[in-house]
Amino acid sequence: MGTLRLIRRTGALPATVATAIVSSNPEIQIDNRAWPTAEPGLPAAASGAAWLSAIAGTTVVVRSGFDDDSMLRAAVRTAVPVIVMRGREDGIDVVSFRQHGPCPHAALDIPERPGAAPDDGAGAVVAAHIAASEALVLIARAHTGGARARHVSIPIRADQIEGDGAAGAAETPAVRAVDIPWAPECFACGGSGVEMSFA
Ligand SMILES: [Zn+2]
Repeated sequence: MGTLRLIRRTGALPATVATAIVSSNPEIQIDNRAWPTAEPGLPAAASGAAWLSAIAGTTVVVRSGFDDDSMLRAAVRTAVPVIVMRGREDGIDVVSFRQHGPCPHAALDIPERPGAAPDDGAGAVVAAHIAASEALVLIARAHTGGARARHVSIPIRADQIEGDGAAGAAETPAVRAVDIPWAPECFACGGSGVEMSFA
């Protein structure tokens, strides 16, 4: 049930993938949207309005890759939680920005800046599963603690991927899940949407 809105730089899903999604959940609606871009003639930073419209009505946004643009601030404006993930050969990162806002002051003119691209390997699959679990936790409002954001990082050692078996347990890098104090910069409401009054 429900709607899966896909916002992809590369257009609609390959038919095989779309078919697999629908066969595992026959009642789902797939809603393909164009990648939000600024109006012709405007700088890339003007894509904020397009992001607002692209994520309007969503329950949670899950994004692959750590590119920077106005998406996160658009989500703060509309009080939609965002999960950002990246699976790479050397590690997995998932950051969950739990609900902030609605803050009408969040800037929507964030210049587009590409982050390190995700890889298409096993790390991406694991990152996607962690992100999906976090999405379910947020939808069910089952998260604990008051943290506004949480970062899960799983380092992957290249020699372990190669499978030489030489690495001892003591050398295995630690998996970390830490709360991070992310808060949208907003002098008017601190991201809470409630304007502070000094009367
Ligand atoms: Zn605000």
